[in-house]
Amino acid sequence: FVPRKYEGPSTAEVVSLRRQYMNPGIFAYYKKPLMLVEGNGQYVYDEEGKQYLDTFAGIVTISVGHCHPKVVAAGQKQLETIMHTTTIYYNPEVALLAKELISKMPEGSGLNRVYFTNSGSEANDLAVLMSRMYTGAYDMISLRNGYHGMSEGMRGLTALKNWKFAVPQAFGVHHALNPNRYRGPFGYDDPDSAHKYANDVKDLIDHATPGKIACYIAECIQGVGGTVVLPDGYLKEVYKHVRDAGGLCIADEVQTGFGRTGTHYWGFEGHGVIPDIVVVAKGMGNGTPIAAVITREDVAMTMKTGLHFNTYGGNPVSCAIARAVLKIIDEENIQQNAYERGEQYMEGLLKLQKKYDFIGDVRGKGLMIGLEMVKDRVTKEPAVEETLQVMERCRDMGLLIGRGGLLGNVFRIKPPMCISEADVVFALDVMDR
Ligand code: PLP
Repeated sequence: FVPRKYEGPSTAEVVSLRRQYMNPGIFAYYKKPLMLVEGNGQYVYDEEGKQYLDTFAGIVTISVGHCHPKVVAAGQKQLETIMHTTTIYYNPEVALLAKELISKMPEGSGLNRVYFTNSGSEANDLAVLMSRMYTGAYDMISLRNGYHGMSEGMRGLTALKNWKFAVPQAFGVHHALNPNRYRGPFGYDDPDSAHKYANDVKDLIDHATPGKIACYIAECIQGVGGTVVLPDGYLKEVYKHVRDAGGLCIADEVQTGFGRTGTHYWGFEGHGVIPDIVVVAKGMGNGTPIAAVITREDVAMTMKTGLHFNTYGGNPVSCAIARAVLKIIDEENIQQNAYERGEQYMEGLLKLQKKYDFIGDVRGKGLMIGLEMVKDRVTKEPAVEETLQVMERCRDMGLLIGRGGLLGNVFRIKPPMCISEADVVFALDVMDR
């Protein structure tokens, strides 16, 4: 692949435009601005044609590869056919995508109705609205350190300091203990940690709510919060407590869906639970704005006709692209690749952890991996500045990595799921260096 000769405005010009016409405080990853002008598979290119391995997959959006030819063709064909209708009309792409998404839900799950929206935040908003309407209850539980988006509603459910502002936020939200076994009160060495963290949810229900709740929402692996893997058995217990309190269980699969965890198509399947509502976004459109709420008929039907509508939700171009993505995931064994490359990554990162004391924790599943940097393994003091330095050095060597966690000291490795064995060898080598 030879990148095109870039002839648009220079990085300096674009930086200046952004400073002049957008909020100059908008967060950017690198000290030396990085402008990406082209993408191909797992690689992206800057204005000089320098190649980077994108192990953050856009922002965990690029599931099957940048500009996958079949995705491009599907989008182009739809753009030339009809660019937009809404659900006040019928369109085949929208209905077919709904059918195909439902076919990906576990047999017998009863998850058989889809609503389309444009973003994960909007889909989560709809999910919690549905849960309140269905249950007639008000209180909602999410996890500390969880990220569910930036809409007005989701600002309330998200529990990460960087995204909290000193303005009023959603009422009726309670944050349960973050089941982070590296930093939380119940660690990896506690065989009962899943039960103890689950008990905290029960405690919240018993003490901070009227005993009846609308919903519990969680990511199966916290993404923005630093790739925190929920302990085995935890969700099963929590779902029982939530259902005993009349609440619905919402799985926020915005990052964990579409095979990213390797072993399963959906993150929740790895926990042996069936949610009442599943929220999907990011990887479904390979970067194109589309998200969906998937639920049972009885829950969906509480949304009476006309009660939920948005202009772009179920845009036929996004739907055609998402249909192509689903097909590629099956045809190109993307989930199996996520599993194998995930194992390869994990093995290599654990070796690095043995070699370097400043790697405090390595965790994850499939191609959803976190590496936590500390100044000292015993005190676990976060190595924030060092994390930034390593990121900059990796960038110089042609490797892009994501960053997150409460304090920003966790590398987030979530490459396009088409990444190759040689790419992982390259990434590990750069990180080692
Ligand atoms: N839920 C999770 C788990 C996310 O990671 C995100 C975004 O990063 C969202 C919801 C919000 O999605 P969006 O940014 O599309 O609104």
